[in-house]
Amino acid sequence: MVESRHLPKVVERFLRYVRIDTQSDRDSTSHPSTERQKDLSRLLAEELRGLGLADAEMDGYGYVYATLPSTLPKEEATATPVLALLAHVDTAQDEPGGPVEPQIHFAYDGSAIALPGDPSVLVDPARSAALLEHVGHDLITSDGTTLLGSDDKAGCAVIMQLVEDLLAKPSMPRPPVRICFTVDEEIGCGVDKLDLERLGAEVAYTIDGSGTGTLSYETFNAAQAAIEVSGINVHPGYAKDVMANATTILAGILSRLPAAEAPETTENREGYYCALELSGSISLARTKILLRDFTSEGLERRKQRIEELAEEARQAHPRATIEVEVTDQYKNMKSYIEATDPRTVSFAFAAAEEMGIEIETELVRGGTDGSRLSEMGLPTPNVFNGGYDYHSRFEWNTVQNLEASLAYLERLVRYWAEHGNEAGPGGSGDD
Ligand SMILES: [Zn+2]
Repeated sequence: MVESRHLPKVVERFLRYVRIDTQSDRDSTSHPSTERQKDLSRLLAEELRGLGLADAEMDGYGYVYATLPSTLPKEEATATPVLALLAHVDTAQDEPGGPVEPQIHFAYDGSAIALPGDPSVLVDPARSAALLEHVGHDLITSDGTTLLGSDDKAGCAVIMQLVEDLLAKPSMPRPPVRICFTVDEEIGCGVDKLDLERLGAEVAYTIDGSGTGTLSYETFNAAQAAIEVSGINVHPGYAKDVMANATTILAGILSRLPAAEAPETTENREGYYCALELSGSISLARTKILLRDFTSEGLERRKQRIEELAEEARQAHPRATIEVEVTDQYKNMKSYIEATDPRTVSFAFAAAEEMGIEIETELVRGGTDGSRLSEMGLPTPNVFNGGYDYHSRFEWNTVQNLEASLAYLERLVRYWAEHGNEAGPGGSGDD
């Protein structure tokens, strides 16, 4: 139960925001994919205006833009990069998105908790070992019938509270800050309608990372291989030395993909091949295979391997025609960050060090809004928001983690004000 005991403002915000159902919908073709996302966007814009950010506005797509002016002397402020802070309002489709009834389990004791709305949903250290690192925390979960939506309402709440806190500390140095709330991140469209020019930032962070003390700025290098096998279809009873069965030839190729390099057999820094889809008849068979690797050499090796498998199949089945088309999808965001402003990473580490937090790099085994923004020229690492077990009814965050994320973000913003106008390594843009 949410008791009426005193809660930090960031937590009060969080509890209010998670109650608003903002689930996105990957089958929708509208922007945003669901109108309900605007319910939260509208509220956030309103609250920002209420706090004093007069230009806060939601656009027609549900994106919110606002400016938090710098407190630096004018000259210094212009020499300091404009910093954008982003979070997404939508929640994932994997589980019911509402109505969310948040629960606070004060002074968590490390045992399994059966959630009241569906006691079969156990928030259990046996399943989520990180819970044991949060004994004594005030745990926040849903009632078990929905997801919690900490992904990414924790980010929304932290940014909103940061704005309020910074406005109350006018003597604390801060760079020019742009606030942006996005939609449809969960369906991979979070930056589709984002107006980069309107955002007008030079460096950015998404506050959407799971855990505490984590920073993500490395993603896969990604490509997709399409293989098309054209066979020869004749009556199967009279097919000897004539038929070329596209389906079995393609199945043979797929069966030779290394089983130890599949999504289900790899983790951390290991790349993979993933047969994404398959269709076939005797005369024509097609597949698409995802290729993923953290290094560009590794990705090249995977492309090469696909070509080799196709060539071997050509030799074995000369009557069939086998075509391979490889398309690059995205690059490791680290390469874009290094090319634009690597201080987004080094400052994130330095600010943590000032606070005595050890940053753990979390590799992103997929694309993110930040990776797409980085590719578009806005270097955007992802900062932790305290949440765990995203996209599930087991999802949780804690009062203390929300506060930690807020405190860290404040320090990070301040760090940019104090160091952002120094030419960092590769960050001056002069070379
Ligand atoms: Zn997220």
